[in-house]
Amino acid sequence: MDTELTPIIKKAADFHGHLGPFLVIGVRIGFIGVRELGVKEKDKKLRVTAMLRNSVPFSCAIDGIQMATKCTIGNGKMKLRNSSGIAARFELQRGEQIAVSVNPTAFEILKNELLSENVPPKEVRKLAHLVASMPEEELFLIRRR
Ligand SMILES: [Zn+2]
Repeated sequence: MDTELTPIIKKAADFHGHLGPFLVIGVRIGFIGVRELGVKEKDKKLRVTAMLRNSVPFSCAIDGIQMATKCTIGNGKMKLRNSSGIAARFELQRGEQIAVSVNPTAFEILKNELLSENVPPKEVRKLAHLVASMPEEELFLIRRR
């Protein structure tokens, strides 16, 4: 697992109530967005639009994105848009934009495991670690505008 991600994933799991693969996907999406736009801790201008299905387990990713970006529904810096994929758009006020999405090909391979019902918590955590350690270029697509 990317050691830079570990503390954010821990915080996110604590906030979210459990550790699961979609939460980790969200953390990684948020992390990439912040890194690619060069967002600094004090940069209050970041806005995020999360584009995904607003139902569990997909919506678990929202908490991951919020934790990694500090853009939340509560502070008004995150918007939600319904989408069949899992993605987020990051914007700075000076107009820079980036979109990060889960690679549909990678998701197709993981889908059966990620979406099966009644998975024991231990297995869910295993999947979370799997998703946390997958190479970024395999799991995500990054688009700049
Ligand atoms: Zn969850």
